[in-house]
Amino acid sequence: MLLYNSATRKKEEFIPRIPGKVSMYTCGPTVYHFAHIGNLRTYTMEDVLEKYLRYIGNDVKRVMNITDVGHLSSDGDTGEDKMLKGAKREHKTVLEIAKFYTDAFFADCEKLHIRKPDVIEPATNCIPEFITMIETLLEKGYAYEAGGNIYFDTSKLEKYYVFNDFKEEDLEVGVRDSVEADSNKKNKADFVLWFTKSKFEDQELKWDSPWGVGYPGWHIECSCIAAKHLGEYLDLHCGGIDNAFPHHTNEIAQSEATYGHEWCKYWFHVHHLNTNSGKMSKSKGEFLTVSLLEEKGYDPLVYRFFCLQSHYSKNLVFSWENLDNAKIAYNKLVARVAALSVKAEDEIDAAAFAEGKKRFTDALDNDLNTSLAVTALYDVFKLKTNDKTKMALIEDFEKVLDLGILAAAKKQNADKKNENKDENANVSPELLAYINEKIEARRAAKKAKNFAEADAIRDELAAKGITLLDTREGTKFSIAEV
Ligand code: AMP
Ligand code: ZN
Repeated sequence: MLLYNSATRKKEEFIPRIPGKVSMYTCGPTVYHFAHIGNLRTYTMEDVLEKYLRYIGNDVKRVMNITDVGHLSSDGDTGEDKMLKGAKREHKTVLEIAKFYTDAFFADCEKLHIRKPDVIEPATNCIPEFITMIETLLEKGYAYEAGGNIYFDTSKLEKYYVFNDFKEEDLEVGVRDSVEADSNKKNKADFVLWFTKSKFEDQELKWDSPWGVGYPGWHIECSCIAAKHLGEYLDLHCGGIDNAFPHHTNEIAQSEATYGHEWCKYWFHVHHLNTNSGKMSKSKGEFLTVSLLEEKGYDPLVYRFFCLQSHYSKNLVFSWENLDNAKIAYNKLVARVAALSVKAEDEIDAAAFAEGKKRFTDALDNDLNTSLAVTALYDVFKLKTNDKTKMALIEDFEKVLDLGILAAAKKQNADKKNENKDENANVSPELLAYINEKIEARRAAKKAKNFAEADAIRDELAAKGITLLDTREGTKFSIAEV
């Protein structure tokens, strides 16, 4: 599989260190509020990547952190503590807030068919691991103490800027909102590993450490949680593009300084979901959630479909009109699946199956081109083969796309049956069998282009007061009251 690697800035063949085994790390949510659908675009595309890696035969172990330690919106002692802000807003403790929004996050993920990672680790579970890594960094000379805090010394690295060509001069305060003034820092890009002195006197969660009572910087959690569950080497690290700098850059700095070797080979970054007024962001206060989509009558899987229709490496503009279009297309897709009539006696057509599958894997093998994979799904209906083969292909693709179209189609057919049942509740079984036999005979006559016979059947029924009605869902009938 070819995947764009942000670290090398090239599309590369994805080859895990141990063939067939993939260690995958995902930056998890900061749990001070509901996830917005922008965050969930990132997790949806990561989910497709994970499912595709499994589909092509890999055993994937995926680890996700939960940021429940108040982290600052910058690396200086500035910005705001998001967790504390959330707790104050809701008159709860930080841990209560974290628990509530962690549960809400996974409930949203479930609705979007985003698989739960194999390991989910809250940052507050790993304070001893953070302290151990910071001690190692101090011992190796990559960290220093200043003003009561411990900082990472970025000047000790041969190459700090991995994902971009920034220079120190680029990091002027105010030029990038991720960099703010901190007179303790030796270099502008240095970042905090452990705080004991902070402007947040009311910081709720604090722990003892060799440097005094305090709390960790933001970036250390991902380096340590990845190491705790996946060891010193990672195959794949994922996140939204806003995390590339400074967060992922700092994760690499910490981990590679600790181990003295390359840490993670492939970096997968999902680009943003924007609205017409710019990037969707939690800190802006106003944002769209899965619950809001549901309130407005959208199945969350329509949003998943919407995400899959565009490439992860491009920004995606959200609008209700775009979502409506996705809804219409999704419903049509479900109706087409529902209309397939799979006959037990048919055989899977191996050549057609291989043809359909190749289009699908060609799309995803080429840097996870999900929109082409969706096209491959549409192409299944065009294949010159039986419906059993088509259904088998759709079932196969759904292992990755996971759009819920099979279940939706099944439900649609069951609802239709019930509808017919209700409508025909007063019709005797003998009459029902007679009418159904005539409907089937008429269908066969029409298929054979024997329209005269088809009309004759219609007339025969009409003479008995039975009117046929051809609908998109098939032929229905009504019986005149006598
Ligand atoms: P957070 O909960 O803020 O830590 O973000 C969770 C994930 O969502 C991270 O991987 C972010 O990079 C990503 N993210 C944040 N905003 C957006 C957005 N507007 N579109 C897509 N992904 C985003
Ligand atoms: Zn992270």
